[in-house]
Amino acid sequence: MKNLIYALLVLLSCCTKAQTNELKIVSKPIDYSQERVRLSLEYLKDHHNIVQNSPTISPKIIVLHYTAGGTVETNYKYFNKTHLEAARNVLKKQSTLNVSSQFIVDRDGTIYQLMEPNMFARHTIGLNYCAIGIENIGSRNQPLTEKQASANAQLIRYLTKKYNIEYLIGHSEYGVFRGSKLWKETDPNYFTIKDDPGKDFMKKVRLLVTDLHLKDKP
Ligand SMILES: [Zn+2]
Repeated sequence: MKNLIYALLVLLSCCTKAQTNELKIVSKPIDYSQERVRLSLEYLKDHHNIVQNSPTISPKIIVLHYTAGGTVETNYKYFNKTHLEAARNVLKKQSTLNVSSQFIVDRDGTIYQLMEPNMFARHTIGLNYCAIGIENIGSRNQPLTEKQASANAQLIRYLTKKYNIEYLIGHSEYGVFRGSKLWKETDPNYFTIKDDPGKDFMKKVRLLVTDLHLKDKP
């Protein structure tokens, strides 16, 4: 009887553990319209020199971002548009495909998935063809939260199991890939300076996933 109770207790603790380890991702797909497909294939060809029939990627890098304001809903609505807004002239000269990312993490740590992680999204110049973008609701004046750091770490862990991810960077760090084999941008002058998601946040997230040994440079 004692053994049975012990076995039941072990079983119970395993179940609870499995439950807490399970990552909850809320599906919130943006409109990956035929036009988005067309523009993504065009972007892959024109900017990355990659000709494909479908806008899929083999993810190697995870890039963390912040949204520089707004809520999940306003950022979702922004990314949901297929074409870039008129005000973003520098980007628009390169392609009219709108920016987006595969994930958004809210300030309470809720993870939203906007498309399959291996679908092409425009979020990091030179690396889009192999990068998964994780946006976080926040800005320079609204520092990202502990819950976001822990959600990003859990999501990185999940993606690393699923894909052959080798690198983890913040958007502000993407310049170190310029000139490396991984950098694929046909226009050498197409580059913008970024400061998201911030050094503190990157430090926190990296500490939580040290065991994954993800690289931060080529
Ligand atoms: Zn960014």
